[in-house]
Amino acid sequence: MINGKTKLLCLLGTPVAHSFSPIMHNAAFNKLGINASYMAFDIPTSDLQKSIDGLKVMGFVGANVTSPHKLEIMQYLDHIDENAQLIGAVNTIVNREGILYGYNTDYLGFIEALKIRNVDLENIRVAILGTGGAAQASIVGLLNENVGIIDIFSRHVNKGQELIEKLNNNEKLSALEYDTIYSKSYDLVINATPLGMHPYEGISPIEVDKVGEDKTIFYDLIYNPSESEFLRQARVSKRITLNGLDMLIYQGIYALKFWFDGLIDEELWNQKTVLEILKEANII
Ligand code: NAP
Repeated sequence: MINGKTKLLCLLGTPVAHSFSPIMHNAAFNKLGINASYMAFDIPTSDLQKSIDGLKVMGFVGANVTSPHKLEIMQYLDHIDENAQLIGAVNTIVNREGILYGYNTDYLGFIEALKIRNVDLENIRVAILGTGGAAQASIVGLLNENVGIIDIFSRHVNKGQELIEKLNNNEKLSALEYDTIYSKSYDLVINATPLGMHPYEGISPIEVDKVGEDKTIFYDLIYNPSESEFLRQARVSKRITLNGLDMLIYQGIYALKFWFDGLIDEELWNQKTVLEILKEANII
């Protein structure tokens, strides 16, 4: 029941009406017996600073930040976690006694989805398609796990090069043209482009059957549809596939841990519980 002690959290973005975060987090509070409430606020960029002032004044415990504010929000926060700084995006804010801390849980969710499948990331060869925020978060997560090499594929090689410069010219990174993917071998191929989701249904950024080997994992960050064209082709070619749903779930679980450190019961609140909630709410 909402009362005078209810802790407040929210999502800042635009649009936010279709976000699954309020459903997931409110269900979590319910299940875990935490007296908190999570709302979604549609905030235009011009009102971002005011919304941050509001969070402080009203003593919000924290917030999530979604498109298009993940970069813009950073200037209004007091501290930014070093991985979030490297990625150049914050998706989780924690208010600790009026001081706002910014984190990125997308890269944590991205890696957790691989770890729960016992994928050994040490020294593997990775291809990543696209150079946007999701690609950047994935690359930072993979570098933290000590992968061997990461080839970044872009429609404009200079965008891949710019991304490498932002990531301190890490020697494991190369920027390549799409055509070159067919002459190389990879253990993990990641689709970090919007190709495969609305309005690009039925389109894959590469011809999957010409890439990789039997053991190559094809990981699409898209979760809706659950099987993109990239994953459909991978399945038909009898490759290992993984969609973006676990990444989405785990970025939320990590955000909860940042807000309510110590109150999250790992047994009670895990991927299975979240999947059940999403199914009940017809989200998946
Ligand atoms: P984005 O910035 O809009 O696009 C990512 C990159 O894809 C762009 O930088 C671009 O790279 C490439 N791209 C864009 N349109 C393209 C087109 N028509 N053809 C070929 N390449 C194109 O998106 P994002 O925020 O990084 O997200 C990428 C994907 O990850 C989306 O599908 C998103 O839904 C998904 N995602 C999932 C989660 C999750 O929790 N599962 C979280 C975040 C994002 P180049 O210009 O260099 O080619």
